[in-house]
Amino acid sequence: MEKERCKKDVHDGGRWPSFHRCYLAAVKDGWCKIHHPLAEKKRNQAGEKKRRDEWKQREAIYAAARLHQQRSSLFANLVAALGSLIDSREESVMNNAKEVLKAANKFL
Ligand SMILES: [Zn+2]
Repeated sequence: MEKERCKKDVHDGGRWPSFHRCYLAAVKDGWCKIHHPLAEKKRNQAGEKKRRDEWKQREAIYAAARLHQQRSSLFANLVAALGSLIDSREESVMNNAKEVLKAANKFL
């Protein structure tokens, strides 16, 4: 007795819509292990999970970049504020600000 073949019509490839019957043996409900609806569903879900994970990863990279940019601009503001503080008259405040500015300048 000839083995039952999978009932899936497989696209031949190329530009024209032509199909052939799947060559694989049917193993369950008339489908091969590749084309069984449950197997296809499982593959689709795995693909979706992969795309979701990749999306989350990109989001995390963008979030880190945004944070870095926010910190950079905050840092620049801080340096500017320190500069004006140094222009103030109180010597202890001035000296303290000068020290902080000296440390900050190493990062500019
Ligand atoms: Zn098949």
